[in-house]
Amino acid sequence: MPHLDMRQFMCRSDNYGVIIHDSKTGATASIDAPDAEAVEAELRKFGRQLTHIFTTHHHEDHVAGNLRLKELFGCKIIGPKNEAEKIPGIDTAVKGGDTFSWAGREVKVFDCPGHTRGHIAFYMPSEFSLFAGDTVFAMGCGRVNEGSMAEMWHSVNQFRPLPPVTHVYCGHEYTEANCRFALSVEPGNRDLQQRATVVAAQRARGEMTCPSTIGDELKTNPFMRCGSREIRKNLKLETATDAEVFAELRHQKNSFK
Ligand code: ZN
Ligand code: FE
Repeated sequence: MPHLDMRQFMCRSDNYGVIIHDSKTGATASIDAPDAEAVEAELRKFGRQLTHIFTTHHHEDHVAGNLRLKELFGCKIIGPKNEAEKIPGIDTAVKGGDTFSWAGREVKVFDCPGHTRGHIAFYMPSEFSLFAGDTVFAMGCGRVNEGSMAEMWHSVNQFRPLPPVTHVYCGHEYTEANCRFALSVEPGNRDLQQRATVVAAQRARGEMTCPSTIGDELKTNPFMRCGSREIRKNLKLETATDAEVFAELRHQKNSFK
C-alpha cells in the first residue's frame, strides 16, 4: 500500500495544519481545523474533498474551522470522548485504546490528559506518524491547563516506545523558543546543540521545523529526558522521580524568557 500524502502548512500565527490524503480511496482528513479558510485553500490547491477531521482537543485554535468545513464538505469529525461536548460538530467520539480504520489503515488513539482534560493523539503505525496536537512539540510540550503535572508527564512519555523513525506532527511551531529553554537546562547535550544549529538555519530561511521524529525528541526534548543527569543536576533534583523532574521543567518553562 503506498503511503498517504501528507501536507503540512502554517495557519493562524503559529499553528500547523496537516492534510492527509489517500489517492486510492480519495479519503482526505484534516488534523485539527485551526482555520477553515486556510484548510479550504490548501484542499483546493490539490483539488481535494475533505472527508474527515481528526480533532485532538477543544481549544479554539484547533476547532475553529470545524463547523464551516463540515458545511462545505459534509466531512465527519472524529474527536475526544472525554471532552466531546466541547467539540463543535463531532460525529464520532474516541478515547485512548480505541483503534479505527481510515483509508484501509489502522489508527490508534492515545489519551493525553494534561493540556486539556480530554486531549487525544492519533497514531498511524503504517505511516510511522503520530499526530500529537498540543501534547508534544519539537523539544517541548504543551502547557498543563486542565490536568495534573503527573498526568501530563505520562501523556508525553507514553510515546517513548514508538519506533524512533515515527514522525511527530504537532500543533504549533514553537521550536525556537523550546530549543532555547532546552539548552538552558541541558547545555552539554551534543544532539541538542546540533539541532539548535539546524533549527536556527531553518527558521532563518522561513521553513517549518516539524514534523519531528520520536528519535530526535528522545535525544533533545527535555520533557522526555527527565532521567538526564545534566538536567537533574541543573534543577538540583538528582534524586527526584522522573515525574517530579518533569513538573519542575514545566514550571520553569512557564516563566522562561
Ligand atoms: Zn491547545
Ligand atoms: Fe494550540
